[in-house]
Amino acid sequence: MGSAKIYYDADADVTVLEGKKIVFLGFGNQGAAQAQNVRDSGIPNDSILVANREDHYAEDAKAKGFHVEHDFEKAAEVADILFVLVPDQVQPRVFNGSFAPKLKADATIVVASGYNVFFKLLEFKPTQNVVMVAPRMIGSSVRSLYQKGRGFPCFVSVEQDGTGKGLAIALALSRAIGATKAGAIASSVYEETAMDLFAEQGLWPNIIMLFREAFSVLKEAGCSDEALCYEMWMSKEPAEIFERAAEDGFVLQLKHHSSVSQYGQLNGAAKLDGSAARAHFKDILHNQVLNGKFCKEFAKIEDALEKDDESNPLNKLYKDADESEMGQAEKRVRARLTELL
Ligand code: NDP
Repeated sequence: MGSAKIYYDADADVTVLEGKKIVFLGFGNQGAAQAQNVRDSGIPNDSILVANREDHYAEDAKAKGFHVEHDFEKAAEVADILFVLVPDQVQPRVFNGSFAPKLKADATIVVASGYNVFFKLLEFKPTQNVVMVAPRMIGSSVRSLYQKGRGFPCFVSVEQDGTGKGLAIALALSRAIGATKAGAIASSVYEETAMDLFAEQGLWPNIIMLFREAFSVLKEAGCSDEALCYEMWMSKEPAEIFERAAEDGFVLQLKHHSSVSQYGQLNGAAKLDGSAARAHFKDILHNQVLNGKFCKEFAKIEDALEKDDESNPLNKLYKDADESEMGQAEKRVRARLTELL
């Protein structure tokens, strides 16, 4: 594919939002940050409505001066633009149940993640616009970077252009939330979902496995739990390496290391045969992520993830991780640290 188009403030005209009612479904991490940024960008408060059940999120929105509607169907009826900012797993139920039947035929639906659109779990009318404005930042940073007058990385795309104005609206919204200041990258729900799920199901499981096995081999060789936990992550050295990678370059950050380390890492990586990992990654990407297999499997367990008992598969996975050699060692080291405090 090569290089992507990047949109800046100058590419976006916020006047296309004039007279439009912007509804934020959800006032959590992203909802609270984006709604405040949009208002601070000059969209009148009366043009913004927060749709939320009657609870502390709603209270927070009211305390921040927003109009709040608890009745989702009423919120849907007035929305020209709807930001869908509730957790991905609840979106199909809430959107299809309460919003889709009442939304205007020319409404613009905005998602902050590709998942539900890519897997066609949300029901849209062909006349509606469906756009993605997906910050690559947690909500608190979306807000704080905006307040500091800085932008943040964000993906933007038009997935369905029912009115012909999808891109203009998506860019205006990207600018209003503060994303085009640093440059919003043209993307798609396909790209966002592929990268997101691949990182979660391909890359990071391998990193967890590599740490687990490395820990075990070094422990077998006589290293203590304390030394290992600190060496491998508790010193925050890996976090610093990734920070340097973002600033200086993925490989060029190595120049901050000793020559022994630089040579060991570069020479070691060059000698590794990546073909088995590559085949494994391709399998995860094509036969688990993109073909919808994971999406189907996840749909069967998502209700159980809300439960706080043994039927929740996450509880069992956490228990197994806790009982592993590395989990037990870390627990002991942390308990000793607490004693020392
Ligand atoms: P949150 O978990 O912070 O969402 C909380 C909001 O969702 C609250 O307003 C909550 O209100 C509402 N909500 C939760 N459950 C329900 C329900 N069953 N019915 C109705 N409303 C519900 O979500 P995020 O901000 O983390 O994520 C929103 C979107 O942004 C997702 O698509 C996510 O992928 C994307 N995103 C998130 C990022 C992040 O920083 N977390 C980063 C980039 C994108 P109440 O409980 O009162 O109903």
